[in-house]
Amino acid sequence: MEESIQAIDEIIKIMQTNHPQTDGALVRRAYEYALSAHNGQKRLSGEDYISHPLAIAKILANLQMDQVTVSAGLLHDVVEDTEYSLEDIKEAFGEEIARLVDGVTKIAKIKVSGEDEEQIETFRKMFVAMANDWRVIVIKLSDRLHNMRTLSAMSREKQLKKSRETLDVYAPIAHRLGIFRIKWELEDLALKFLEPEKYDKLIRQVAVGRTQREEYIQKVIGIISDKLTAEGIEHEITGRPKHYYSIYKKMEGGKRFEEIYDLIAMRVIVKTINDCYAVFGWIHALWKPVPGRIKDYIAMPKANGYQSLHTTVIGPNGEPFEIQIRTMEMHLVAEYGVAAHWKYKEGVTGEDTLGDRLQGLLDDIKELEADSEDSRDFVESVTTDLYSDEVFIFTPKGKVLELPAGATPIDFAYRIHTDVGNSCVGAKVDGKIVPLTYKLQNGDRVEILTNPSSKGPSRDWLNVVVSPQARNKIRAYFRKADKEENIIKGREIFKRECKHFKTEITEDMKERYEDFITDRFNVGGWEDLYAMIGYGGLRAGYVIQRIRANFIKDFDDDDGRMTLVKAPTKDKSTSIHIQGHSDLEVSFAKCCSPVPGDQIVGFITRGRGITVHRADCINITNTSEPDRIIEVNWINENVPSESFTTNIIMRCLDRKGLIADISTIIGNEGINISSFRTAPAGEDEMKMTIEIVITSVNQVKAIIRKLEGVSSVIAVYRI
Ligand code: MN
Repeated sequence: MEESIQAIDEIIKIMQTNHPQTDGALVRRAYEYALSAHNGQKRLSGEDYISHPLAIAKILANLQMDQVTVSAGLLHDVVEDTEYSLEDIKEAFGEEIARLVDGVTKIAKIKVSGEDEEQIETFRKMFVAMANDWRVIVIKLSDRLHNMRTLSAMSREKQLKKSRETLDVYAPIAHRLGIFRIKWELEDLALKFLEPEKYDKLIRQVAVGRTQREEYIQKVIGIISDKLTAEGIEHEITGRPKHYYSIYKKMEGGKRFEEIYDLIAMRVIVKTINDCYAVFGWIHALWKPVPGRIKDYIAMPKANGYQSLHTTVIGPNGEPFEIQIRTMEMHLVAEYGVAAHWKYKEGVTGEDTLGDRLQGLLDDIKELEADSEDSRDFVESVTTDLYSDEVFIFTPKGKVLELPAGATPIDFAYRIHTDVGNSCVGAKVDGKIVPLTYKLQNGDRVEILTNPSSKGPSRDWLNVVVSPQARNKIRAYFRKADKEENIIKGREIFKRECKHFKTEITEDMKERYEDFITDRFNVGGWEDLYAMIGYGGLRAGYVIQRIRANFIKDFDDDDGRMTLVKAPTKDKSTSIHIQGHSDLEVSFAKCCSPVPGDQIVGFITRGRGITVHRADCINITNTSEPDRIIEVNWINENVPSESFTTNIIMRCLDRKGLIADISTIIGNEGINISSFRTAPAGEDEMKMTIEIVITSVNQVKAIIRKLEGVSSVIAVYRI
């Protein structure tokens, strides 16, 4: 009780430092209301419940949020966890605070289920709820931050789930808003729970040699400070706080701990932009810069508004270190993001004080929500958008456009105008023709060649573009272009996938399922569903999976899960030569799936002809009937005339984009994937089983070598 009164006094004091005219009356009233509403409730840690809303209010006050938002932070769990209703809040505190509390409550109510597709649905709802009022985002981020700080009271299972979610959803949002203070802490906390051993090791590694490092930092600071004082530049120099997650990520990317420059890093804060460049010059006069590490984010700010000069130099001991140079204003933006720009005005609604960038984010989310029909696409779009680095591209007239890293001329064309994208037939970069798959580089000057009578975009472009806008516009084109054609195409795809999943859906079943599919996929009926599959808005495999799970009794297997079968291949028996027999039925053993080039033997079965195994197959080497084994040969193992399926098993550490990398590599080899299954294996490992269609054993060996080179892959082997 004593403690919490002190806490609210401190919060009001923080608010008054930032905004002297704050009287604190509203915040104090919200605190008293929350205190009595949560009276008697405890947190899992054993603390009084009020400690949670108070901690959130303090985070919000430090972000310089206004009284309304801080008050809503204090009240954010009242509707969810006490007997007070939203109406009560509205009566006591008015429409605006009630709306914020409602937004946070709605996010809390979204159920997160374990299943992949369901979880994606959850993220979709979260993004949409957040997009409706930007202050809800900031309260929710603060709520999550405090819950992460106190996560050790939860079960291990919950810790893992919350930490994953934090990395997948909340940290990227904080990044996009430029609120690095929160982003860094969220990431470090998530790492601590997801990878406790690696996290502990990292802390020890950073701690080792800390004294030595600090002496070195002091020495460098002294040299810089003397120089700048002599030149009459007012300045402030600090060592930079360490962010464990970023060190962890760099080490995961293959760097050794010793190679990471950021361990020794400092920051110079000066008065003006001119001073920034002057300091930049003086530092390079003192020490040699490391090539390729100079970045001018003052001339080219990042999308979230971040500005700074970065350089890495070889310091007095021959050790590299990084320096960031910025003004105080840039510094505030770097730490607090858009929050630093929010003007404090009592009674002005959030919408009026929105920073352009935040508004941009919300508009993007709303636009994507309207354009995406599949939750997976929507969530992928939003997260790619939130995470991605950007490249700066010039139009022929010298205007700068910002695109996600990896963008192609097609992305650029759609950014200019939908019609330019739809009629794009080619592109020039700095005057030279480039393929449409060219990856744009910073500073490229791009000119799009259009042909008004072109037949419109190609479906292949969907695999090439990286910006959500371009992808959605291309999908929209096909959606509208020809519904009849989409229905035919979708029906074909659906039929093919049914075969693939060994699933028969009769006309009579379709009639019974109609209600389910209209409801589940938000379509008018089967034709609509086919159309959606046809233009790529929905995956047929997913539809079949949902149907099977929902009408388990209609299908053979009782658990409703998919059984994948081999892609149909040509009759393999023609490529096998068996001494003295030509009319025997030949089949290939499923246990070892031999392919041309393998050492093979035949096994005479009872009544099913001959089964061909690999000579080293465990079922052959262990057989109790060795006299049934006969010699067989490939007719010509070097001439790939037919295709075979085989399974590759991979053990990997889970990471973003891994599956995409793997399928690209396999695709680039011209190999088709007939099925792809992943399963968790242990804490952070997963096992992938990939069935591929190949023509020779050499092809398998080559692909295994390539896959072994992919980062975070531990082992690759054939069954
Ligand atoms: Mn809460």
